[in-house]
Amino acid sequence: MKLIFATNNKHKVEEIKHMLGSEVELLTMKEAGLYQDIPEPHDTLEENAREKSTVIYKLTQTNCFSEDSGLEVQALNGEPGVRSARYAGEEKSDEKNIELVLQKMANQSNRKAQFRTIISLLIGGQEFQFEGICEGQILLEKRGTGGFGYDPIFVPDGDTRSFGEMSLQEKESYSHRGKATQKLVAFLKELEQKATN
Ligand code: IMP
Repeated sequence: MKLIFATNNKHKVEEIKHMLGSEVELLTMKEAGLYQDIPEPHDTLEENAREKSTVIYKLTQTNCFSEDSGLEVQALNGEPGVRSARYAGEEKSDEKNIELVLQKMANQSNRKAQFRTIISLLIGGQEFQFEGICEGQILLEKRGTGGFGYDPIFVPDGDTRSFGEMSLQEKESYSHRGKATQKLVAFLKELEQKATN
């Protein structure tokens, strides 16, 4: 099956590509000849994910999926949430976003947070959504240089290392994106089985 992944984020492509396996021919936007920035105008991950996959499906008439994700910090009432990419401004700076979260969390003892991902899959124009959640804690300062976004300040429950200190495979075993992608893969396998029966 051929699927376009509606994102311009190379880290997301890297994280999801190898989980999909060889049955799925994954095309990035560039590989599909698409160079635009896709809008994220809504207040929820669910709506933004749907917007992204719908825009690409309408343009290409090709089965595709998108994902929208965010960091939800309990003591900040779920912020940065859907605004995660632009928390400190339109320039989408990971450095500045991290600084802002650490600053707002400076005197906070409740450091609970979660990453949440929604994948929106469009098959023949019909939408299916898959959610992945990873709970953890916000560190007092950055640790590690791997990954992207808020990875250096997030430690998943069940480990003592930040996502920034893990390999891709280690992060995937805990991560929101890993869990949502597992659900996507199971769904695609089921579809394929139905098609061959
Ligand atoms: P979007 O899904 O493209 O709107 O971007 C979500 C933003 O959330 C990213 O720019 C990152 O700042 C953050 N984010 C999403 N997933 C992760 C992750 O796995 N690690 C660290 N930060 C993430």
